Amino acid sequence: MNVSDASIQSLKGIGPVKARLFNKLGLYTIEDLLEYYPKYYKDKSEITKIRDVRPELSYTIRVFVEGKASEARTKSRLTITKLAVSDDTGRINTVWFNNRFIKNTFKEGDEVLMYGKIKRIGKDLVMEAPEYERASSGESVNLMRIAPYYSLTEGLTQKDVRKAVHGALQYLNEKLQDVFPEELRKKYGLAEINFCMNNIHFPESRDKLELARKRFIFEEFFMFQSGLIHIKRMNNEGKKAICFNKEIDVREFIRKLPYALTSAQERVLEEISRDMESPAIMNRLIQGDVGSGKTIVAALALYKCIRNGYQGAMMVPTEILAEQHMQSLAQLFKDTGITVGLLKGSMTVKEKEIILEKVLTGEINIVVGTHALIQNSVSFNKLGLVVTDEQHRFGVRQRALLSAKGDNPDMLVMTATPIPRTLSLIIYGDLDISVIDEMPPGRKKVETYFIDSSKKERLMNFVKKHLDSGRQAYFVCPLIEESDKLELASVEEYCENIKKQYFKKYKVGMLHGKMKADEKNEIMESFREKKIQVLVSTTVIEVGVNITNATIMVIEDAERYGMAQLHQLRGRVGRGKHQSYCILISDTDNETAIERLKYMTKTQNGFEVAEKDMEFRGSGEVLGQRQHGLPGFKLADIFRDVKLLRLSKGAVEYIYDNNKLSNIEYKRMKSILDSRFQKVLEEISLN
Ligand code: ADP
Ligand code: MG
Repeated sequence: MNVSDASIQSLKGIGPVKARLFNKLGLYTIEDLLEYYPKYYKDKSEITKIRDVRPELSYTIRVFVEGKASEARTKSRLTITKLAVSDDTGRINTVWFNNRFIKNTFKEGDEVLMYGKIKRIGKDLVMEAPEYERASSGESVNLMRIAPYYSLTEGLTQKDVRKAVHGALQYLNEKLQDVFPEELRKKYGLAEINFCMNNIHFPESRDKLELARKRFIFEEFFMFQSGLIHIKRMNNEGKKAICFNKEIDVREFIRKLPYALTSAQERVLEEISRDMESPAIMNRLIQGDVGSGKTIVAALALYKCIRNGYQGAMMVPTEILAEQHMQSLAQLFKDTGITVGLLKGSMTVKEKEIILEKVLTGEINIVVGTHALIQNSVSFNKLGLVVTDEQHRFGVRQRALLSAKGDNPDMLVMTATPIPRTLSLIIYGDLDISVIDEMPPGRKKVETYFIDSSKKERLMNFVKKHLDSGRQAYFVCPLIEESDKLELASVEEYCENIKKQYFKKYKVGMLHGKMKADEKNEIMESFREKKIQVLVSTTVIEVGVNITNATIMVIEDAERYGMAQLHQLRGRVGRGKHQSYCILISDTDNETAIERLKYMTKTQNGFEVAEKDMEFRGSGEVLGQRQHGLPGFKLADIFRDVKLLRLSKGAVEYIYDNNKLSNIEYKRMKSILDSRFQKVLEEISLN
């Protein structure tokens, strides 16, 4: 057993009661505790001038004591000690409560460091009960440092966690073994594990903290990418896939489509066909902007598969999407004799049984569904191709579970998340990538505007005009993150408000994440059938929805979304023959946020948006929601830390290409990779 596997109760000061609180945070072992990195730090090492302090924030000041401390007693027998201090920019009072030592601690002219919170009392600012230390005492132990702050749970204080972590570090006594051998650390500029563990929790300086962060972020990426390599090898090693027959051509079917394929679609179809005909398992990602026509390409692959005598499965993240894909596939294949079925969680047991039976016998050729598809009860007659749409919602593991239902079926993954190419090569390291980088002809640009709420009246008139001429509109209401209850209340309230204020004469519907699947479907159906003209929604409409008559997308508090997410929301409109509009509303005065929103009005290209997004984040500004965070990453952010992502990719390649894992130095890494591999697999899920 590893020392760090020991229970946290082996630490001094942690008994069963405290332990239970730590358990609540998911912390059971000493290792858990060590990997419970601070959420943020407060730098008490930086000295602020009195002139620059603001109420409600905490600062370290370096000051001279002015005169003697004064003491006063309140009616409630509280002793208040006041001490005036100053630096070359100003003067401020410090106050203590019931601290009898202060009076005798300082004398006029003493030079002191103080750290405390600034409060406003009447017109004056004071510093409340500061920690203090003599400036002349040389190396500072209390004030001149960077303090860690952790996520807490009720009953647990920062002090508790700090003490526990400190205890854990002492318990280990610098005896953590490094997963990276020295050779590798030198090559990639990584600091040693014990140094890093100490400095990520109790940084001795900003530089040392940076070194520690760099190492851990690198390590997270490294583990992730090793996992991908592992999967890729597993996918391909020794397995024989189906060789779909070349002679069965999809040309005839393509000729009957009401449009010609774009050359990008043709190229991607060619790449897919080659994979399908080869004896290796296809693991291919189709990346293409919203509306670029990924679905038809997947449908053609399914066609080829069915005509070869196999079944196909398509897994999508939501029931709305499942319904939609099922309908469009059924429509597309209506004269071909190919049967399409639907399986979703909200079906009755009876309904499911009927479908499952038909999938089992092969009566259904293609089954479209949600996660319900990976349940044990689902068995195929002869599964040949698995398609997953909007892959960032699924985990590698879920895909694997679905393909395990066949005998090495081919796998096609579609995503509209426009990730810059360099990044997708890394993140989708286990897949081959095809890009549809061209829009079908005649697509109108979605005119995009950025306004502040003072223009709302005009906007609403504009919307009404379009509703009157038969179009429909989406409103994405302000984002609420705090709680489910709040989310619901705020959507309802927002919906009521705009109905009352602007859309009395119109049919307004509402869609939110807390609705049951069939409620959602019902609303989407009404919207599709134009029984609803204005659809107020949280971001649940984000994924794949295709309603061509909807031409207006209004997004409130637009600064709170990432650019890629805005782009995806915008992609819900502009899908039909009518001119479409996207209106971004924001009152932010954050310059970067404004710049980002302005940029959205200038480009329609998802990949450009993604590149720009990366640039903005690269500059250290992390705004909006995390969209490409990978669960399992504690510190890393693939956008912000893209340099480390590349660096770690290099390291993984170096190790695998040179077969380093069989080397004695790499023994520890190998055993960690082996044991962690299962965990990594489960955690790799793009979201
Ligand atoms: P996405 O890539 O977002 O999944 P879809 O596959 O839903 O895009 O396609 C969007 C729309 O474009 C659909 O209505 C589809 O019928 C249409 N479409 C796809 N390919 C072409 C094409 N080559 N020419 C014209 N229209 C096309
Ligand atoms: Mg789609």
